[in-house]
Parts: sequence; structure tokens; C-alpha cells
Amino acid sequence: MSEENIFERDLDQTVANHQTQTPLSFLAWAASVYPDKAAVIHGDKSYTYAEFDTRCRRLASALKGRGIGLGDTVAVMAPNSPPMLEAHYGVPMIGAVLNALNFRLDGKSIAFILEHGEASVLITDRELSPTIKQALDEIEHEIIVIDIDDPLVNSGELLGEKDYESFLDEGNSDFRWETPNDEWQAISLNYTSGTTGNSKGVVYHHRGAYLNALGQIVVMGLNRESVYLWTLPMFHCNGWCFTWAVTAIGGTHVCLRSVDPGQIFPIIRDHGVTHMCGAPIVLNMLVHAPDDVKTAFPQTVEVATGGAAPPSAVIEGMERLGFNVTHLYGLTESYGPSTFCAWQTPWDSLDADRQAAEMARQGVRYPTLSEQTVMDPETMTEVPADGESMGELMLRGNTVMKGYLKNPEATEAVFSGGWFHTGDLGVLHPDGYVEIKDRSKDIIISGGENISSLEIEDVLYKHPEVMEAAVVAKPHEKWGETPCAFVTLKPDAGDVAEANIIGWCRDNMAHFKAPTEVVFGPLPKTSTGKIQKFVLREQVRGD
Ligand code: ADP
Repeated sequence: MSEENIFERDLDQTVANHQTQTPLSFLAWAASVYPDKAAVIHGDKSYTYAEFDTRCRRLASALKGRGIGLGDTVAVMAPNSPPMLEAHYGVPMIGAVLNALNFRLDGKSIAFILEHGEASVLITDRELSPTIKQALDEIEHEIIVIDIDDPLVNSGELLGEKDYESFLDEGNSDFRWETPNDEWQAISLNYTSGTTGNSKGVVYHHRGAYLNALGQIVVMGLNRESVYLWTLPMFHCNGWCFTWAVTAIGGTHVCLRSVDPGQIFPIIRDHGVTHMCGAPIVLNMLVHAPDDVKTAFPQTVEVATGGAAPPSAVIEGMERLGFNVTHLYGLTESYGPSTFCAWQTPWDSLDADRQAAEMARQGVRYPTLSEQTVMDPETMTEVPADGESMGELMLRGNTVMKGYLKNPEATEAVFSGGWFHTGDLGVLHPDGYVEIKDRSKDIIISGGENISSLEIEDVLYKHPEVMEAAVVAKPHEKWGETPCAFVTLKPDAGDVAEANIIGWCRDNMAHFKAPTEVVFGPLPKTSTGKIQKFVLREQVRGD
């Protein structure tokens, strides 16, 4: 064996063979390859890729003209609309960091984020002015406010010094952005939704955004014919990186300001939508939409769902409507999806129940993530792949965040032992697929037995009268804890007694797992539509 590695001799990295990976390069590519193709559709308005690119460069140039640059934060508060999409390019083009705000938050929470993220500019949609007004009253630092005056909206006030379109006029269409020197540079700042109570500022880098966008193309099968409907908020993990992925393939973005089945079905038909995403709750809304709203469409729409485990009844309901569902798993910290339930051809011949059981699993890593496993977090050893031994899901790779903004303790803790600790508990199946059983805090321990709240919820969702369900642990003198179910019935459901629900669970799963108590009514949700189990837990504890 030679002592010297000849492949290292004289073969250096130069700008010719080594460039920063950034999703900004996707826009330049799409604009040069498909200049006249529809890039963005919003109501009656449509922008070609050439126009989309120019608008982003004008935004970058206008921001630069106001002294914004490397490491400055630009916050955007807007529903899915062209300015929000443009900010995903225009802001990082000058080295600034995009902080897409969750428009369902209240003024106080927005004020906290603007302060914590030290936003220098806020671009805000007029419809959201009541919240923003409150937030601006609370913050103490200087901030440039630009209003988005969307023609589709006629409510709300203009709060800033200029509207977005006039602001773009400040910018130069010929503005040339420079590729960042370092792909580790921050591209965006996303606050977690706080299902476990506290919200942290998650920082993404250019490299991770680039890779996860490409991962989405591979996993969801996007191509140049793809028409992506924005049912997932762009503020949520930068729209799970679809903001960059759809552009990378020269597909068409169809914006949608609110998740309204009355608009979604006709848009799917009229624009030939091929792909969309949403939390299970969004899918549930489509499944339960009134029949006259469910316009038929000829194509099969690929829909990715995640953020919570999709109950099998929801998957089946969607497939009946003409959607093909892919189950994704991920977190804000992993740029949205890190994991998907990759379909295996032999599953084609399984019966519907077995197929649903396979699909209920969160699955395998994205090809763009380096490693995924389930470990005992104390010893950092992998659990046996037996589908039963529980551990914590761990991830590592280039699509894991830089860290939490201004919170080194939390960053260090979550990366301890060289893995990103997801906080989700699950098992490893013999085929290598992971299945989340619960979040660390959601597991119910009754008489020493672990009961997965997700498993009970899945059974509840199959009850013909149940629309939504959540199960939490209730303290119990004898058993330590027992499952308590919170259930929302379908709008047209008749009278359903507690005993009926408990009986249904006992008939469909081991008796010890059945809830001992059922509470009927609406469920508390986070601003991203996830059920807030910590609120229900407080309720059962009587806090
Ligand atoms: P928050 O952590 O504040 O809820 P995130 O949007 O980052 O905000 O949520 C990530 C969490 O959502 C994961 O840790 C996991 O508990 C849950 N989650 C995401 N996808 C799935 C899924 N497919 N199945 C079950 N739980 C999921």
C-alpha cells in the first residue's frame, strides 16, 4: 500500500470544482431554463419564472438599499402569497436571514419572536394588522415595517411606511446577488410551534435547505410538470422546504391564503394540481367537507402528511377522494421532514388494514439525511429492531439545524452524544422502519405497562361518529395512570355515550389500553393545528 494518498496530491478545491450549496441557485436555474413558464399563481395573477426571479432580486436590492445585509433578520408575517415566497429568495440573496412568522400567533408571541430574533425589517400582510399592531406596541427596538396590500384582501390597516410593491420599486431589477462564501451561513429562523409548551428559535443553514429541498424532490417525485398547491403554511419549516424544492424543478407554485376546502377542490381541478402537503387535520377537513364542495378531479394528487401521525381512517378517506398519501415525519429542527414511510411494492398485495398498518409507521430516513435510529438516550445504544423495544428517535446529518438561537444550553443538550435527540419515543421494526409511539411526555404508564396514546387515538378515529380524538394520561390511585380520551364528534353525529366509546376501544384493542374516561368537546390546538396535549393533561390533573 502506498504511504501517500495520490488522490489528495495536486487535487485541490477551487471555485471551479467546489461551490457553496444554496437553494438560491435553484431560482437562477429555473429563470434561465423556464423563463416564460408559470412560476407562481395567486388568484388571477400569475408570474413567470423570469418575473419571479426579477421580483426576488428587486426585493434583495431594496433591502440592501435600506442597509440590511449579512446576519440581519427580516421577518415576514403573511399567509401563503407571492411576497412570502419571494422572501425565501430575496432575503438570503443579501446574506440576511428570513424569519417567517406564524400568522396564527397572538401579538404577544409575535412581539417575543421579533425581539428574540432581533428583526430589522417586518414585511406584513394587511389582513394580519390587528395582531401586528399589538406586537409593534410591545417591542422596543427600531424596525422597518413594509405592508403587503394583497389585492385579494380588503380588510385590515396599512401600518408601515410603504407597501410591498412600492418597496420593490426601490430595488434594482439587475441586482446581482453573490453566492454566500459559506454554506453554513444562516438562511432562516423558525420558531417551534410549542406542543410541549416552550418555543425555540431554530436556525437553518444554506446547505441544509439545499439538501432537504432536493430530498423532497426525490421523496415526493416532483418534476417539471408538477403543480404544487400551498395548503401547508410557508412559515412552517419554510413550507417543509417546498418553497425551494418546487423552484428547483421548475414546477408551479399555487398560493392559497387559507385552508378552505371550498377553494381547494376547484383549484386542484382547474390548475391540475399534482402535489400538496398538510397536517392530518387538514386532510381530515377535506375528508369531512360537505359533498357539494368535493369537486371531482381527473388526476391523482400526491399528498404528503406529517406533523402528527395520520389516523388510518384519514388516509383511507383521502385515497377514496383521489389522493395518494405519503406519511412523513420530522421536526422544525430537521427542516421539516427527515423521515418518510417509503412504499414497498410487496405491500400492494396486502389487505387494506395491513397496508394502513405499514403506512402508519413513520419509516426511513430521507436519502439526504445521513443516519436515523432509535436509541436508549441514557446509554446511547441502539434498541433491538424487534418492533417492541422503545427508545428515542435520533437523527444526524446535514439537514439538522445549526442550533437554537441564543440558547447554547438547549443546543448542546439536544445534540449530546453526537446525535440530534428528537424527544420522540418509538420502536425500530425488523425492516428498519421506525414507528413513533409517543412524545416522551405523552406515553401513558398504567400498572407498569406502557400504553401508546397514538394507538388508542387510531382506534378512536375509526369510530364512525368520531371526528377528532386525543388521549392523555390521567393520574390514578391504583394504576398510576390511566388513559383519558378527549373526543370531538362529527357535526352530524347523534348522541354518543361515554360507554359506547369505551366499549368500542375494548372491542378493538387490549382491554387494559382502553380509556377509562371520555370527555366530549372541541380540542385545544396549537397555531399550526396540532392538538395541545399539555393543555389536556393540565385539565385532567385539575391544574
Ligand atoms: P413542536 O415541536 O413545537 O410541536 P414541530 O412542528 O417541530 O413543533 O413538531 C415536531 C413534532 O411533531 C415531532 O417531534 C413529533 O412529536 C411530531 N410529529 C411530526 N411528524 C409526525 C408523525 N408523522 N407522526 C407522529 N408525530 C409526528
